[in-house]
Amino acid sequence: MTLRYDLHCHSTRSDGLLSPSEVVRRAASRGVEVLALTDHDEVCGLEEARHAAAAAGIGFVTGSELSVSWEDLTVHVVALDFDAADETLNAGLTSIREGRTGRARRIGDALAAAGIPGAFEGALRFVTSEKLVSRTHFARWLVEAGHCRDVKDVFKRYLVPGKPGYVEHEWATLPQAIGWIHGAGGVAVLAHPGRYKVNGEAGMAKLLDDFTAAGGDAVEVLSPSHTAVQSAQFAAHARLRGLAASTGSDYHGPGESWLDLGDLPPLPAGIEPVWSRF
Ligand code: AMP
Ligand code: MN
Ligand code: MN
Ligand code: MN
Repeated sequence: MTLRYDLHCHSTRSDGLLSPSEVVRRAASRGVEVLALTDHDEVCGLEEARHAAAAAGIGFVTGSELSVSWEDLTVHVVALDFDAADETLNAGLTSIREGRTGRARRIGDALAAAGIPGAFEGALRFVTSEKLVSRTHFARWLVEAGHCRDVKDVFKRYLVPGKPGYVEHEWATLPQAIGWIHGAGGVAVLAHPGRYKVNGEAGMAKLLDDFTAAGGDAVEVLSPSHTAVQSAQFAAHARLRGLAASTGSDYHGPGESWLDLGDLPPLPAGIEPVWSRF
């Protein structure tokens, strides 16, 4: 009997709406048996989450979701089961977080040029963890300020490539991110591959090959970003390359997520689960 895992979710330590303890308690109440908290470019919620998991009687795995630049895209690499005190990893995460502030100023400037002033200051009012500003905080402010109906509407109209509030940004490289994760004893998972606007099947194969060549360990096969057909395809991609499979709801909070904590089917048969590498 396999345990119920959820290895991708967010708290107020990045762009989620619930505190680390609230995320853990909600996961436990929904039947999650092993949880990883994976805040963007951050590990400062893990201590609180670990204590809450012990109190709730569920298993806990350290996590973080690293922002990476690959070719002309941003991709996300979920780190799992690492030493959260590792200095090199923490220095890398700090450098990514610091880059976010300058990027947020440029997003603010871009929105001002499109006729929406005050967005940088507005987004900062929604920030819940010092020095971590994300597009989600801009989205929440744009909704509050009446520019959009909801967060999903913001991403359609403003904050994605080709829209007025999108700016280019250099994150970590794939080898850097995977190197930091391995240096801290962790496992590197390519998050929600179905979300990336790669150039067809060849583009996806290139991304997975580059991820594998850089030492990546697993692919997030089950994700709210994937259809059942995509999950089967990514499981096949993973098997072909000797990569394991991960699963995660990518939960951000009530009313803002496609899936709630633990709302995932079992992994497809015949694939190695990422937890066999913990
Ligand atoms: P950032 O790391 O600052 O680029 O922000 C990325 C975050 O924006 C993601 O982790 C999601 O939480 C959120 N996001 C991205 N695309 C969408 C979308 N289409 N709808 C809702 N939220 C999104
Ligand atoms: Mn997010
Ligand atoms: Mn992501
Ligand atoms: Mn995420």
